[in-house]
Amino acid sequence: MRKRIFRLLLLTAILICCPIIACNALSEVFFSPGETHTSTLDFRQYFETMSATQGACTMSIRQDIYQEDQAQDLWATVQSDLQALSGLVGMETEQFAPFTIFVVQQTFLGVERYGDRLYCTAGDIENGAYRQALIGVALGIEEYWKTLGLQNCLLDIPVDVAQLKAAYEQASELDGLSLFISYFTEPFACAAEIALAQQTATAIIRYILERYGIDALVLEDDIAYKQEWLQSIGVDRVYTDPYAQVLRDYRFTKANGYTLVATTSLNHRFYLQPLEDMQTARDVRIFLYEAAAYSQALLDLFRAEAPDYYKIAKSCWEGKLNIFCNTGGGSYVQPAAGRVKLQLSYGYMHELTHILHHVPEGIRYATEVWPYEGLCEYVSSLFPFYSYKRTCYEDVLCKYQHTGDAAGEGKSPNADNRKYWARVTEIYLANAEMPASIEEMDMALFMHAQVLAPMRYAEELKNSVWSYPLDRIDSHGFTSFQAGNFTGYLIRQSSLNTYLDYCAGVKTFEQAFGLSFEEAKENWNEDVEKGIM
Ligand SMILES: [Zn+2]
Repeated sequence: MRKRIFRLLLLTAILICCPIIACNALSEVFFSPGETHTSTLDFRQYFETMSATQGACTMSIRQDIYQEDQAQDLWATVQSDLQALSGLVGMETEQFAPFTIFVVQQTFLGVERYGDRLYCTAGDIENGAYRQALIGVALGIEEYWKTLGLQNCLLDIPVDVAQLKAAYEQASELDGLSLFISYFTEPFACAAEIALAQQTATAIIRYILERYGIDALVLEDDIAYKQEWLQSIGVDRVYTDPYAQVLRDYRFTKANGYTLVATTSLNHRFYLQPLEDMQTARDVRIFLYEAAAYSQALLDLFRAEAPDYYKIAKSCWEGKLNIFCNTGGGSYVQPAAGRVKLQLSYGYMHELTHILHHVPEGIRYATEVWPYEGLCEYVSSLFPFYSYKRTCYEDVLCKYQHTGDAAGEGKSPNADNRKYWARVTEIYLANAEMPASIEEMDMALFMHAQVLAPMRYAEELKNSVWSYPLDRIDSHGFTSFQAGNFTGYLIRQSSLNTYLDYCAGVKTFEQAFGLSFEEAKENWNEDVEKGIM
């Protein structure tokens, strides 16, 4: 009761003191102490709020910045935006999904949204910067391109259809039509690509809204609509998207120093910056697809072929995992912290294997390390990333195919390394035609050449970094490729489960594989020489 009297007094005060905003009083709402904003992984702040709710919309203003007049103005702005959205999508505002807008004095990463919560400043509401996120929470839509396209429709932003038609007729491939968030994100996309993605998003949203209505937009399967829209502007090309299904697992945010953070349903976070092998919007998309698809495939492999080790691998997988992609400092893993650092994106499967199957404490010597490194390299060879195939094709086969033994035209600044890649190319081309594209490349053959070259040309290649043994303290002389290949050989002789028994010390080498290490190595050597992969 006291609250109601207070509100009446307040209304009267506003009407008397400030007649100009009297019309706003119609949509006034009552703010009262609301639920405390709790600190979570997403929002690392704790604060008291003043809060108001009407229909689907709750606005919770941080208590120590709360001012009644400003609160009412912000509320009126939000309601007016919701009305406009309601008109655009043909839905009553009461039908919107319940959501909360947290208003704070300062955000560190601009407007942020997590699920049904939006986090911004009063200024973000006043200047409209929060609007795209508002559309997302009100309609329950996560995809960036859809909320952006809806916002552009709301603002009546025009689209140049002739320009879009020309762009998609000339595009070498149509991955940009996925409108994946990386196509809107610098530096993965350049200004022209971002402008194209913006226009396309707006045009497709308008097309879907006009013909099929908002329900079609909320559905996540939009490949058919994109194909249809493409036809409607007169581009006669087939659009498919093999990555879309798997990529739906990711949500996107920002972080200090990283333009894009991709979070999975297990709360694994990929902190993304351009890498030497991940420069473009398409590269980012393929990387995130492969990381998700191949991680699952690796777990499936453990379940099927190493049942004794599956449970622990799965629990490691379900634990904390943060992957930092940035140049410099190499690739490495800190399993206990659930932290992976990648200098090259294709190192992901190697480092993930270290997470799922830790090197035990106290392992120091290469004789003990190689089974672990070998396993990681073996897994990498089972699931070669596109970026790896691309570098093998473009930076090796294409560059060295005509050089024969006269190395010198390749990419590497080091002459010894160029000799290595020339020999790898020579071995590859002695067994297969020069592939016409990355897709036509025989990766198994290429990887075999990587293993064979330092064996066959030991003296010539001894100074190449690719001939160095895994660890120079003491070793069996395996290069990392060879350790991976030898591991594959042992697993084929027994099983992954048995191989892991050997790593764990449950079985000796002889117990696990039925012969001595030296015999096994000799047999493997012969197989490699004979080209058995
Ligand atoms: Zn390693």
